[in-house]
Amino acid sequence: MEAELKGLLDGLDSLKRSLVDSNHHASIDKLRLRVDHLMDLAKSERVRRLKVKDMSAEVVDSNPYSRLMALQRMGIVENYERIRDFSVAIVGIGGVGSVAAEMLTRCGIGRLLLYDYDKVELANMNRLFFRPDQAGMTKTDAAVQTLSDINPDVVLESYTLNITTVKGFETFMSSLKSKSFRPSKEDSGVDLVLSCVDNYEARMVVNQACNELNQIWMESGVSEDAVSGHIQLLIPGETACFACAPPLVVASGVDERTLKREGVCAASLPTTMGVVAGLLVQNTLKFLLKFGNVSPYLGYNSLKDYFPTMEMRPNPHCLNAACLERQNEYLLAKPARDAAAKAKMEAEASSVVETPLHDENEWNIRVVDDIELEKTDATSSDALPEGLTRELPRADEFQDPAAGVTVSFVDDLEDLRRQLDALNKI
Ligand SMILES: [Zn+2]
Repeated sequence: MEAELKGLLDGLDSLKRSLVDSNHHASIDKLRLRVDHLMDLAKSERVRRLKVKDMSAEVVDSNPYSRLMALQRMGIVENYERIRDFSVAIVGIGGVGSVAAEMLTRCGIGRLLLYDYDKVELANMNRLFFRPDQAGMTKTDAAVQTLSDINPDVVLESYTLNITTVKGFETFMSSLKSKSFRPSKEDSGVDLVLSCVDNYEARMVVNQACNELNQIWMESGVSEDAVSGHIQLLIPGETACFACAPPLVVASGVDERTLKREGVCAASLPTTMGVVAGLLVQNTLKFLLKFGNVSPYLGYNSLKDYFPTMEMRPNPHCLNAACLERQNEYLLAKPARDAAAKAKMEAEASSVVETPLHDENEWNIRVVDDIELEKTDATSSDALPEGLTRELPRADEFQDPAAGVTVSFVDDLEDLRRQLDALNKI
């Protein structure tokens, strides 16, 4: 850009020199000034931040990770920097997927694989993430453009394809298997797949791929009326897969495309999609960095601000053959799993050693047993230093008036009357 403007300036200068009639010089000078201004604008273009080699906890304004690394200091996450080892695949870069991708990018995830076949449209601008100037670009390319600017440390892979086609499915599977990012990783090449698609057919394809690869994934969805949504954790063999309890439209074998009515457009809100994306990535972080509890299913009803949760066991009669295979493996591995859990519990129990909570005790504070406290109360607290006496009786010295001194109510009244009479005489 700068070089082109410089060439334009040179062209204007030579034009000025070649003009014999100096009356035209003023117009050329005006043009020159405008090009100068454009040169200044081009020079002040945004500066991209450099890559950061190691995540640091140093609290300085220039550190993009200081607030994330503080999670370690606060005792929430044991090792935040591990996030750089993880690969997350996001299928569907729409209202939920694009926001989830941005959140993970800002959190410094190691690698993101982005899948979508669609293009950015102005009709998407009611949602977050995409900008009007990206209209016409593929969603994956536009996402890479924005995300690489936000955090150049994240490895971004963009797949512009439809996973429901034969070729698209093959590429999808091979990209999930690829271990180029972390060759030492067991099983597939990604740690988690996030499904952020808007139709059952695509969900069933993600389900098929993940069952075949024994890949843990999370499902997400927002209702067509834009006021509710959900996320769901799917562990092949251990929890229900998407085909174990299919929605009616899938179970009855109806092509969902035939259900869409002409001219009827699904509603969408940036709020609901933002909430669902937030819940999805929150659970992704908990799953990857091992803190808190990952919700097996979490619903969101925005009209009542209701968040139902539940667990779903796999269906032993599931129609998905790969799901049944995973269920079988899970059952066979039960004895080994139980033994490992028992060994872990025993190791934890034996490692618990009672130590003082605080090494330093500046004020010499000690915890006293209740019995010891009662004994101390009975003796030392009653004793007064020499020379001091009590003005009021102690509680146990107080005597009930009814039991001790006899008070005559009538006598008191007589006395009061006499006093009033005396006052009246004055
Ligand atoms: Zn199943």
